[in-house]
This record gives sequence, C-alpha cells and structure tokens, in this order.
Amino acid sequence: MNPARVLVIEDEPKLAELLCVYLEAAGFEARRLGDGLEAAREVRDWSPALVLLDLMLPGKDGLDVCREIRAFSAVPIIMVTARVEEIDRLLGLELGADDYICKPYSPREVVARVKAVLRRSRPDATAGQEAARAAGLVIDEDAYRAQLDGTALELTPVEFRLLALLASAPGRIFSRDQVLDRLYDDHRVVTDRTVDSHVKNLRRKLGAIRPGDLIRSVYGVGYRLDLQAADDAEPH
Ligand code: CA
Repeated sequence: MNPARVLVIEDEPKLAELLCVYLEAAGFEARRLGDGLEAAREVRDWSPALVLLDLMLPGKDGLDVCREIRAFSAVPIIMVTARVEEIDRLLGLELGADDYICKPYSPREVVARVKAVLRRSRPDATAGQEAARAAGLVIDEDAYRAQLDGTALELTPVEFRLLALLASAPGRIFSRDQVLDRLYDDHRVVTDRTVDSHVKNLRRKLGAIRPGDLIRSVYGVGYRLDLQAADDAEPH
C-alpha cells in the first residue's frame, strides 16, 4: 500500500521542513503549503490522509481553511496553535478538527499525534470492509486476495486496488480523481478512459459471479460499490 499522505500547512518554513522530515522518517508522504490559500484545492487534488493545520497563517487563517475543507471533506485535521489558552476557544467553535496541538512542540510528539488520529479514524474503513463482507465480498489486503460469494476473484493489481478502495466505503461515491490517486503513483500519465476500462473489466469479473451491476457509474461524478442493489436483483 502507498504511504499515508500528510499535508502540512505551516508558514514557518524551517518548522514545516522539520515536520516533513520527521513525518517522512516515520513512513508518511508529506507535502507542505506556506499559506492557506491553496489548502482546499490541495486537499481535493492530492487527497491527503490527514491535514496538519496551523492556526495563524498569512492570507487565509486556519479557522477559515478548516471550515473550507470541512465543507466537502471528512479528512482528519489536527489544528496547531501558538497559545494553549486558545484551544478552549477553538473547541467552542466546533470546527470539526480532530485534535489540537500547542506550539512549541517536538516533531516527535506531532508524529505520535498524527498516528493516533489516523488510528482513530481508521475504523471507518474497517467498518466499510465489514459491511462488504456481510454482503458477500471479502477483501484481504495483506494477502492480496478477494472473494465474492465464496468464489475467488482473479484480479490484476490495479483491479484489486480499485475494488479495495470502493469496498472501503460501500455506497460512497468515489470521484475519478480519487480513484486515479489510489491506483497510480503518478496519475498524470493516466486518462479517465483508462479508469473506465479497469472498471469495465472489474465489473465483468464481478458480474460473472453475481449477475447485476455491482459497480455503479454516477454520471459526471464517479463510481460506487452497490452490493445491496445486486442483492435486490437476485430473485429475477
Ligand atoms: Ca503560523
């Protein structure tokens, strides 16, 4: 699996760089922004697993950035503030941040908090896979194996990653960009049509075991796994 991505939004360059060094040493992929102006776009395009967000930023402050991200994304956010007294005020604003860290901090502490927040937010994916399992789709990411209704699926690595992604949240719509992001390290070389053809092949392999459209295309938006609808279609 690809390393989890952490977006660091911090206007003190030395601090930002230090954090990225520690995050990368801990196995994360880190990217930094020096202000909040491009934050929402970066969250959308790069799909980080977590955002470290400094409160005091030039251009657009952390509060606005947090609200802006929350308007479209549930990505875990850790807010960083320079004053411990401020944390109470921030909690009162109900921004939807997942944790708060006060400066000065040790980068080691930040990495520990990042790991803790990611651990807490992971049950969602597990819950998704549990739901898929209950509906007959079993994904074993460690063994790189998948089964539908007790029959092993013969999948290419790309098809496997695609299915694992969709099964992490059955019913949720994943945009083409999100799909591209999870499937390829460098998705600039891949076109939408490539994704469509992988989807088509995966759909055919699933359909050979359980007739019906398990992967729905949502026109102009993306794809979702629809295990329920396939169940409904079974009696016919
Ligand atoms: Ca700052």
